[in-house]
Amino acid sequence: MKRRALFLDRDGVINEDFGYVHREEDCVFIGGVFELVRTANRAGYVVAVVTNQAGIARGYYTEGQFRDFMRWMQSEFLSRGARIDRVYYCPHHPEAGVGEFRKTCACRKPRPGMLESARGEFDLDMQDSILVGDKKSDIDAARRAGVGRRYLLAPRSTVEQAHCIDSLGVVERIISRESGPSPYSR
Ligand SMILES: [Mg+2]
Ligand SMILES: [Zn+2]
Repeated sequence: MKRRALFLDRDGVINEDFGYVHREEDCVFIGGVFELVRTANRAGYVVAVVTNQAGIARGYYTEGQFRDFMRWMQSEFLSRGARIDRVYYCPHHPEAGVGEFRKTCACRKPRPGMLESARGEFDLDMQDSILVGDKKSDIDAARRAGVGRRYLLAPRSTVEQAHCIDSLGVVERIISRESGPSPYSR
């Protein structure tokens, strides 16, 4: 049976988006994110981060620094009983920066490349998968990849084809309800 995924954009969904966050001391986790990931783990979802990281192309931080930071972030989740299964990132930018990262790629959202990689890797039921983003480009990427359940963490927005939510708790409750009574006591 195909699995479902919970796709999370990073900046503005997992951590506050202060712009090009890449250091532990600048990481402020968004309320409810650990509970959301824990509930998704328990319900059998693959939890995947899908994040544009043009800061790498722009030379603000290296790919190594990004990966170190994400390893730290994943360990912060694990220490709270929550597991991020996979991190997909796009280090490119079509115009900015130099060298190998300056290119028009298939992975930078709103393109669906990262989501399509996940589909192949985990044999996902995309229609029944969930994406939570905070920008139109997140929602567009999800729509193009066939992700059926799209949530925009922005209470007042004009982005179409997404449900606007004002907290991650909304998605957490949806997953928790659909997975029925938990075998774990509450
Ligand atoms: Mg974002
Ligand atoms: Zn890319």
